[in-house]
Amino acid sequence: MIIFLQSDVQEQDARYQELLAHLNQLPGVRHQSHVVQGDEKTLTEIYLLGDTHKVDETTIEAFDAVERVIRVSEEYRILGRHADAKRISGFTYNGVRFSQDNCHIFAGLCAVDTPEHVELMMKALQSHGQVCTRMGAYKPRTNPYSFQGHGKECLPWVFELAGKYGIKVIAMEVTHEKQIDEINEALTATGHPTGVMLQIGTRNTQNFELLKAVGRQRVFPVLFKRGYGVSLNESLNAAEYLASEGTSNVIFCLRGMKSIAGAPHRNMVDFGQVPVVKRLTRMPVCVDPSHSVGTRERSSDGILDVAHVAAQGLVAGANMVLVDFHPEPASALVDGPQALLMDELPRFLDDMQASHEFYRKRLAIWQQT
Ligand code: PEP
Ligand code: MN
Repeated sequence: MIIFLQSDVQEQDARYQELLAHLNQLPGVRHQSHVVQGDEKTLTEIYLLGDTHKVDETTIEAFDAVERVIRVSEEYRILGRHADAKRISGFTYNGVRFSQDNCHIFAGLCAVDTPEHVELMMKALQSHGQVCTRMGAYKPRTNPYSFQGHGKECLPWVFELAGKYGIKVIAMEVTHEKQIDEINEALTATGHPTGVMLQIGTRNTQNFELLKAVGRQRVFPVLFKRGYGVSLNESLNAAEYLASEGTSNVIFCLRGMKSIAGAPHRNMVDFGQVPVVKRLTRMPVCVDPSHSVGTRERSSDGILDVAHVAAQGLVAGANMVLVDFHPEPASALVDGPQALLMDELPRFLDDMQASHEFYRKRLAIWQQT
């Protein structure tokens, strides 16, 4: 069950306290409050979890603090949309708004290597008006002898460079909960020059203990990658673990599925499911064309496969693109073959903007009455 409070009700309010007193004495029911920031207003939602079937909706609705109550029996209780068009989607982090209505490009290095490469990347992003990037410090690798990422050692200089070039959000994968503290410490030590979006990689989609730990922190939003070998439903349930522990600022990322049917691409592109995720949940949806395609091949029309599939995702309404670039792919320590070249950045960004605008045109066509 979800209780939506009146928009003017704050935590200190007597009406709020009166409702909480009632909820606290319900047997077998726990509750969790979440403040949802919309474009125009901020709303508080209270999720009732546990033995809620005996809870009477009308009694709850009678409290002055309450605007309305919905009962959700379906999965993805917190992140789900539950056929309720009034539920706000999205959040603002470090001044950047993420929602199911807008679009951001996170171009950057798959793995942080040298300060020179990180600086070249960030400088190029700033010169093209970008405030987001991707930078992997902790790399989950298939082979234990492969480069595992520079880890916490690189964080201070990566964050300082981000601050120097006006980067506000860095998508950075975490593979262990202790890395959240390392990121927090490095941000504090450098004076918070930037922000971090914690990334859950496809190999950790169902690492429930990691998800619970990431869900318990309240500082960073999360970029959650779909599992490459499990159903969409299983991945959405896994994302709900984050929300059930308290983090509902989550972006869901499609990144291709492991299948021989995807060849010659690295994975089978699954971006046709962008609208499905938007219908089932309130999460903004990201597409990762680099890990889907896995090469820098281009089609006979001269357009990179990576750009083609990213455009397909955006034309279907995706809200974010996570894409690998590298100033010198031949020397990249991870995923060099799929990294786009720096001189391709402006064309890629123009293509993504045009694709998002094309989605907006499609929306206007379909919204005509
Ligand atoms: C990545 O984005 O660097 C990555 C490892 O992706 P995935 O988890 O989708 O393989
Ligand atoms: Mn990679």
